[in-house]
Amino acid sequence: MSPMVAPLPNLYGLDRQELAAALAPLGVAPYRVRQVHRALYRRDALAPEGWTDLPTSLRAAIAGRFRVVRPGIVGRTAASDGTVKYELGLEDGARVEAVAIPADGRMTFCISSQVGCAFGCAFCMTARLGFRRHLDTGEIVGQVAALRAETNVDQGAYNIVFMGMGEPLHNFDALERALRILGDDLGFALGPRRLTVSTVGLPDRIRALARVDPPPRLAVSLVSADPDVRASLMPVARRHSLDELAAAIRDYGADRRDRPTLEVVLLAGVNDTPEQAERLARYAAACRAKVNLIEFNPTPELPFAPASDDTIERFLGQLVRRGITATVRRSRGRDAFAACGQLAFLDAVTGAPGARGFSGPRARRGSRETPRCSDTPTAS
Ligand code: SF4
Repeated sequence: MSPMVAPLPNLYGLDRQELAAALAPLGVAPYRVRQVHRALYRRDALAPEGWTDLPTSLRAAIAGRFRVVRPGIVGRTAASDGTVKYELGLEDGARVEAVAIPADGRMTFCISSQVGCAFGCAFCMTARLGFRRHLDTGEIVGQVAALRAETNVDQGAYNIVFMGMGEPLHNFDALERALRILGDDLGFALGPRRLTVSTVGLPDRIRALARVDPPPRLAVSLVSADPDVRASLMPVARRHSLDELAAAIRDYGADRRDRPTLEVVLLAGVNDTPEQAERLARYAAACRAKVNLIEFNPTPELPFAPASDDTIERFLGQLVRRGITATVRRSRGRDAFAACGQLAFLDAVTGAPGARGFSGPRARRGSRETPRCSDTPTAS
């Protein structure tokens, strides 16, 4: 048996400072570090041999010491409204989901932060997977690179929302580095208004996110402003009170032009009553937050039904009459996708083999597999 050879360290996912440290033993000058950063994240050039603005000897030295690998697309499902859900393969065989949602000439990429999730929300299929592992920084920003390449979107025409599989603030260090790379002028060059982090509501981590420079937009999956209803749907509500959460949200929004958003997925007979709307209006006012009402995407595995159109309109009207800025987000890709995490869940319970779809200089050839059915996240 041949001895196990440790893989070379992955350059993909390092921010500028980390790249400088990793390349220091090669005597790389700061402007060369910037060139490498630009090649990785701006140009999505994964083969060092193709970095022709660098000397041949340096390219060879980098290729000999590092691998450059990011997630690659292994499956895609298109809905009739133009939404496409992608399944991305990671080096260890795990898979995550990301969704491209076109609207008004722009694209929104919804990306994942973990494989599975530890937070157990009752209305979410990813919760059924349990927590598998955190994504590293390269696996997070690599989803954006993969979808950007796939959709051929213009540099200025897409936004990112962290609403895929996992709780982004539970994977804070990787998220923080990812935000740095996504915002870097020589990276993805996405301003803070184009980046939204959606969370189940972890007050301490929301405060930590506020210290990121610059902080992204914040969305909190509230679901209900009634503590009993929230606790019955979201176990995290037993650890953090609504008051504690409201203070963190209010502080996050202070001194910012973008008010935080409260996300409320409306479940028939659970959180869609006039009394729930009244509580939500009071809570949103106290947080100085906007409200986004979300249609639930039903799936047989979850014991919930979407609120009716009439109920959603009535609920929305009640909020607006109370002076709350509120919108309804219609469920996208409804004809093709089910609720959050369904494909991963089905594969986990049926033992379907994980596709390997990472992208790197060698992996690029033939890394795409037959499109398969998957689902859309409604997570975090
Ligand atoms: S909704 Fe978000 S935080 Fe809750 S279980 Fe699903 S992925 Fe996790």
